[in-house]
Amino acid sequence: MSSILVTGGSGLVGSHLREILPDATYISSSEFDLRSENDVKRLFEREWSRVIHLAARVGGIIDNINYPLEFIEDNLRMNTNLVRQARLSGVPRFTAVLSTCIYPDTFESYPLVEEDLHSGPPQSTNFAYAIAKRALAVHIDAANKQFETSYNYVIPCNLYGPYDRFDPERSHYLTALIGKIIRAERSGTKRVELLGTGKPLRQFMYAGDLAAALKKIVVEDITDSFNVATSENRSIREIAEIAIEACGATDFELSFDQVSPDGQFRKDVSNQKMLEAMPGFTFTPLKEGIRTVYEAYKKKSEI
Ligand code: NAP
Repeated sequence: MSSILVTGGSGLVGSHLREILPDATYISSSEFDLRSENDVKRLFEREWSRVIHLAARVGGIIDNINYPLEFIEDNLRMNTNLVRQARLSGVPRFTAVLSTCIYPDTFESYPLVEEDLHSGPPQSTNFAYAIAKRALAVHIDAANKQFETSYNYVIPCNLYGPYDRFDPERSHYLTALIGKIIRAERSGTKRVELLGTGKPLRQFMYAGDLAAALKKIVVEDITDSFNVATSENRSIREIAEIAIEACGATDFELSFDQVSPDGQFRKDVSNQKMLEAMPGFTFTPLKEGIRTVYEAYKKKSEI
């Protein structure tokens, strides 16, 4: 257990994993810049039995639109360095994390299954990020084919959790929504306006559930690649209504600006392959997970 390396240890998923897999080594960009080949070579001077690669340049829709070059370059460089050095060093197991937002923008049938990953172009707003993540999947598949490694990847849906950034400019969708509800509650306006139409469908998973799945991969030595996503696929409007209820906010008015970009309309994935690999795995219900984040958010003094 102790020679497990986790990149992206300071992030949302890494913080959850640290709680349940405390003996692993967690690194962040302040110790190793994974875009640098020299830093990654230095990292592999130590012998690792397994790598869980969480680190990525991650961002919201506006960030992705404004900085596509950073999204493709940073992610390609980090991922290439990691898979390459792990293989050259003979690391027996490697698990990477992709994202359901890299699936084809539109497809003929839903839910999407793992074989659909390369079957059409990704959404234009996060094209560069998606191509870098798809390249990571291709890189891992190529290593397995050519060198008979047992490397794998998981493809999680949208995440939220108490370790998310609470800064309204940088937090993920659901955390930002909870912040808006709390601020509206405190100011007495009791009104929340969200961007877009509220119609797109999303699967939101508590980040602790992804950490639990990653721990299962380690403990049960699972080497398959699969989606990790809840069975709850709901419209943004429905999710906002559940969030308002979970936060105990009453008499709230919910509206959508109708003009901001919606992003991908749907990208719901099947969790069948995951549940075959991990029978009986249970997900945190959306309302319960939101309540946990709400309590954590309220404790933060900066809002
Ligand atoms: P996060 O909170 O944004 O954390 C990103 C992590 O990557 C941080 O630890 C960061 O370190 C590290 N990192 C970034 N650039 C780096 C660099 N150049 N060198 C070394 N480390 C670097 O991300 P997350 O939400 O935990 O996501 C974890 C993984 O899940 C990512 O691969 C992401 O693509 C995937 N994913 C996330 C979501 C989601 O909704 N959050 C959904 C699907 C998939 P510092 O703290 O030092 O910057």
